Amino acid sequence: MRIDIMTLFPDAVEAMMGSSIIGRARERGFVTIQTHQIRDYTTNKQMQVDDYPYGGGRGAVMQADPLYRCWQHICDEAGGRVHTIYMSPCGRVLTQQVARELKAQYDHLILVCGHYEGIDERVLEEVVTDYISIGDYVLTGGELAAMVIVDAVARLVPGVLGNEQSALTESFHGELLEHPQYSRPDVWHGKKVPEVLLSGNQKHIDAWKKEQSILRTKERRPYL
Ligand code: SAM
Repeated sequence: MRIDIMTLFPDAVEAMMGSSIIGRARERGFVTIQTHQIRDYTTNKQMQVDDYPYGGGRGAVMQADPLYRCWQHICDEAGGRVHTIYMSPCGRVLTQQVARELKAQYDHLILVCGHYEGIDERVLEEVVTDYISIGDYVLTGGELAAMVIVDAVARLVPGVLGNEQSALTESFHGELLEHPQYSRPDVWHGKKVPEVLLSGNQKHIDAWKKEQSILRTKERRPYL
């Protein structure tokens, strides 16, 4: 799978996407993640990418042209239009289902990160095929949101997690949240690991995990 990220802050994205599981997945070639500095596609000396909003109001708006030229460059290299997602608080909200859908339907994505007051609507109309929000709150930029999508989608690519089995018991795999997890030591701060997990009886362990998942889901996400 390939994901291109259009951003004014590629260093911030690279810093995060170069380590841990996603970093290793990139090194091993399971996913290709490429950042693109939108500023490189300006045609003015100052490399300015934003200007005042028409109609008044505070702040600045990212201009259409540098974004369009950056997007066009990626699509030219890809040999055609690529499913393009604008990270936006006005988009549909990201869920595990949306992550699964993106992974199943596309092997190439472009993620567009906005800044300031957002992006000139005209270029969004021309290039964007999907609008995704990571929740009903406003961030200063789309980079964190893009990284959330990359992480949620990339970990569904076979080979990325190393242990595919672990994804099968995780929250949202079915309609339940995951059961509590424990590791060594058996006793910590006077709290014991539930006896059943030390029993070695896999049937009992599985039943306990299922029961805990149901209890936790009822308590924390009853609508699931
Ligand atoms: N003026 C915009 C509005 O009210 O909808 C908010 C702009 S926000 C300050 C700047 C950028 O952050 C947006 O263009 C978007 O790319 C990103 N962003 C902010 N909140 C987000 C969210 N909840 N999900 C995804 N992206 C978000």
